[in-house]
Amino acid sequence: RAKGSGSNSVCFYDASMDLAVRERNVLAMDMRAGLRSGQFQLFYQRQNNTFTEEVVGFEALLRWNHPVRGLVPPLDFIPIAESSGFIIDLGEWVLREACREAASWRNPLPIAVNVATQQLSDRNFPTLVQRVLQETGLDPSRLELEITETGIIADHQRALQTIRHLKSLGVRIAMDDYGTGYSSLSMLLTFPFDKIKIDRQFVDGVATSSQSAAIVRSTLILAESLGIPVLAEGVETDEHIKFLKEEGCVQVQGFFFGKPGPREGIESIVNGQPESRRKSPGSRVA
Ligand code: C2E
Ligand code: MG
Ligand code: MG
Ligand code: MG
Repeated sequence: RAKGSGSNSVCFYDASMDLAVRERNVLAMDMRAGLRSGQFQLFYQRQNNTFTEEVVGFEALLRWNHPVRGLVPPLDFIPIAESSGFIIDLGEWVLREACREAASWRNPLPIAVNVATQQLSDRNFPTLVQRVLQETGLDPSRLELEITETGIIADHQRALQTIRHLKSLGVRIAMDDYGTGYSSLSMLLTFPFDKIKIDRQFVDGVATSSQSAAIVRSTLILAESLGIPVLAEGVETDEHIKFLKEEGCVQVQGFFFGKPGPREGIESIVNGQPESRRKSPGSRVA
């Protein structure tokens, strides 16, 4: 943008770069202080069986209640936490908080936790997972770690070792945002995933884009032949549900069944009678 448009815009460009860098540094410092003073919180979003509508698990999603900025969405602070290295501490907090929460439920539903690339490539990560499971008493089979393609492309061999190590602890590994990377297909064949989460951009297009419909359909066929369960993300409408039922996608997550929310909102599901795990009519959005 600055190129060829005069020295003024070059100056402006430099100044705004500087501002962006400073802004990021401020946020990075705020984050460290925020973690110590309890500004981070987990929201939980239900995952449902497409056909029975029963709740089959939850995904933990991080929120930051900034004292001045208000609720900062993860896409605004997780990249900064990643570039500053703080994601290691923040991710440890998320893991412990999610496991502690799930261990307190009367109903032994699974909990899915997002794992950043740097966490997965951290040599201490499997040991940390083991320690947190012991500390919290959560049954390892109830913990599902969601990893993305970027988390494994750097070093396939090491990623495979880490995934095997984690699986030997009894936890499950899900591939998140399936379809958004460059080599999603080969990832499926190379790594022993226990679940595939189809990215919401494809789910959103099933009714309007033949490409999206084709990706969802072919993923379901491939996953079935590999024996891997599939969850569709970002399910919002009756059309989405209709399509996914027709194509045999057994699990869904999205605003259709409920938005992510604080733990109070899931109380009746995680501690109530099994019937409460069914969606009650007219209460689609939690
Ligand atoms: P994700 O893991 O793919 O999580 C799903 C995102 O889709 C969530 O956004 C969720 O609120 C949103 N979503 C769910 N259903 C619908 C729907 O029907 N329609 C639409 N439009 N959106 C829906 P959220 O909570 O803003 O998180 C965004 C991303 O931030 C996550 O994507 C994940 O990559 C990252 N993230 C969130 N929490 C953590 C965390 O604890 N650790 C790490 N490393 N990353 C996290
Ligand atoms: Mg996820
Ligand atoms: Mg996703
Ligand atoms: Mg994601």
